[in-house]
Amino acid sequence: MSDMAELWMEKALAEIHHCNKCGFCLPACPTYRLTGNEVDSPRGRIALVEGVLNNEIAADEGLSASLSYCLGCRACETACPSGVQYHRVLEAGKKVLDRTKPGHRQLTWVPRTLLKLTRQPKRLKRLAALGRRTAHWPLPSRLKALAPMLDYREESIQPVPPAPQSAPPAFFFHGCVQEALFHDANDAAKALLSAAGYRVEDPPQQACCGALLWHAGREEEARDLARRNIVAFEQGAAPVVNTAGGCGAMLKSYPELFDEDPAWRERAERFAARVSDWLSLLEAAPHRLEYQGTGERVVLQNSCHLVNVEGGGERPGQMLGAVAGDTYVPLAGQDRCCGSAGIYNIQHPEWALQLLDQKMDEVAQAQPTRVVVVNPGCALQMTLGVKRSHLNAEVEHLARYLYRAFLRAQGQTERGHQVG
Ligand code: SF4
Ligand code: SF4
Repeated sequence: MSDMAELWMEKALAEIHHCNKCGFCLPACPTYRLTGNEVDSPRGRIALVEGVLNNEIAADEGLSASLSYCLGCRACETACPSGVQYHRVLEAGKKVLDRTKPGHRQLTWVPRTLLKLTRQPKRLKRLAALGRRTAHWPLPSRLKALAPMLDYREESIQPVPPAPQSAPPAFFFHGCVQEALFHDANDAAKALLSAAGYRVEDPPQQACCGALLWHAGREEEARDLARRNIVAFEQGAAPVVNTAGGCGAMLKSYPELFDEDPAWRERAERFAARVSDWLSLLEAAPHRLEYQGTGERVVLQNSCHLVNVEGGGERPGQMLGAVAGDTYVPLAGQDRCCGSAGIYNIQHPEWALQLLDQKMDEVAQAQPTRVVVVNPGCALQMTLGVKRSHLNAEVEHLARYLYRAFLRAQGQTERGHQVG
């Protein structure tokens, strides 16, 4: 076994030793809540990986199924009173399976194509536009079930006048799927940050965060993207903000990608310390913005990676509560994964849809006119959920919703016309 393999195993075993099997994480785990089976819980998965690493049980189909049905949402880490970093154990289990069951991470052509496109943002954007236009065409049954996800009305966002050169800078990270499918959310966030007094900069050499590749086991490709992003944002020391909880969590986790490479780890740590969600900057902005609603009922589907990894998961709800005239209805399960989880909803559509339907029951009770999200995967999944549950509500990113409310508070519509 190589030194690197020993390091990841050592780190996983350290986490396993911290786990006292208390089970406090079980109620937080969406897959355990779905099946009630110990093997679908964090504690069960930790016990399986422990048995395998200690050569007590085989790394077989049972381990593969248990780990593959984990969403990677990391709600168990937030719930754990002992601070167990479960994701280290999950990754170690998958690495063992890479040796004993080399095909266990095999993907169907849809996620395979998506992973390839994360490195080709222009093609991803063209295909996303094509997908939207053809979503109503006759499609194979597997794709037909997912096509409603793309039913999204884009908005044209007018940039606000840029802040002066002397304004505090903010570096903007786009994300590949977010920019390809929901660039209006990025444009809206940039407009709001400018209005709040930041000089927003877009380093052009930035790339996909690498999260989908990393979780698919394509670690060298993910590291390559991480290095590109670290270099692209090293031109200054300003905060690096993003509008996608999944990307933010990955950017924050870059140091872990370089466990075995001290020089890059140090650069990754400096970079990760500057990463935050865009709302934290808005909160600390030179100018405080006002928001005016139109009497809507609004619910939130939060990003599990914003809540459990990046930090600042309370901010989306706080911002929704700050929109005068609209009613924000907090949901008990708004921080729980919707079943999107990267490419989980393509790999395991049957579980993803059950998780989504559970969530939509709760959403429907709140009778919202708008479902606000803070991550592109959640936007796709919740759009599907609204269609499946025949809810008369629109799904959109928080940035876009706030942008309209901001213009309204200034007496403008989103196209710059006077209201009323
Ligand atoms: S991971 Fe944490 S919460 Fe879960 S069983 Fe172990 S110690 Fe308890
Ligand atoms: S990452 Fe999420 S799905 Fe996986 S064990 Fe933890 S809580 Fe459960």
